[in-house]
Amino acid sequence: MKIIQLSIPTPFYVGDVNVYLIREDPITLIDAGPKTEAAAAVLKAKLAQNGIGFSDIRRIVLTHAHEDHCGLAKQIRDTAKNAEVLVHDWETGHLFGRLAQEEHRQLILRSGVPEKVFDDLRGLYEEVSLLTDALDDGDYVSLRDEMELEFESGSLRVLHTPGHTPGSCSFHREADRTLICGDCILKRITPNPMLAPDPVDPTQRFRSLAEYLVSLARLRALSPTLTYGGHGEPVTDFEEIFHRYVRAIDERQGRTVKLVKPSGTTAFEVARELFASSFDHDVHRFLALSEAIAHLDYAESEGKLAVEMSNGVEYYRPV
Ligand SMILES: [Zn+2]
Ligand SMILES: [Zn+2]
Repeated sequence: MKIIQLSIPTPFYVGDVNVYLIREDPITLIDAGPKTEAAAAVLKAKLAQNGIGFSDIRRIVLTHAHEDHCGLAKQIRDTAKNAEVLVHDWETGHLFGRLAQEEHRQLILRSGVPEKVFDDLRGLYEEVSLLTDALDDGDYVSLRDEMELEFESGSLRVLHTPGHTPGSCSFHREADRTLICGDCILKRITPNPMLAPDPVDPTQRFRSLAEYLVSLARLRALSPTLTYGGHGEPVTDFEEIFHRYVRAIDERQGRTVKLVKPSGTTAFEVARELFASSFDHDVHRFLALSEAIAHLDYAESEGKLAVEMSNGVEYYRPV
């Protein structure tokens, strides 16, 4: 089974996104790129170099539902009449207006974000959400853990690897220990555990960092020899990247815990300190906040911090 990596431009800070083409029956794309004219044109041209048009695509499998990965899925599906889109059920919440939902608003305000900052964030995400078409129920087939995606010459096993988002999935080819794993493993950056409501109880936060560490261990246990990520080149030394991630996470845990004062500190305050140099750039704020909350939640679950709610805002304290 040949996996062909196609690099597609995005308007995001992260740069290009990887779309993977598996050119055998049923012709499959893993991820699709953002809904921009530039991305559609580049994807079309790169597929054409491989003798494929949008109308030949039979299956679009999404690692997760961030706009840079899923934006063009519906458009391609509509062009290729019989194509199906596959995505994990826990992912679809992202497709219906992130931050627009009351649950999301509550989760963010609880972290001590001033209303004004929240409004800026929401404005930003409204713009970002234009970079994808929403998938309604019935527009997609659910990806499930351990499901096999069959191809003419073999199969890919679906692994539910939550963390970066609740419904992030990876795809494993056992025969040659190859992985395709979206934003779960990225060569040059440590993936961000994004703030999201818990899919099972949306009034609670998804424990993104704890989940991510479990997913990372699960992928490591497969001893992958080649790992294709959502951005950048493939990873050939999984152990090196695993240890690098663990060190980076440990270091950030340490810094996060130190920033919490006995008088009580909010996640917003921690985010501002952790990312002092970039916090004033809108794009980074939500990521910074996600990262701070993920680390605070994790420290709390490890018994390093306590959290208390006062006037609708959570305050962390050392224990
Ligand atoms: Zn992502
Ligand atoms: Zn991404």
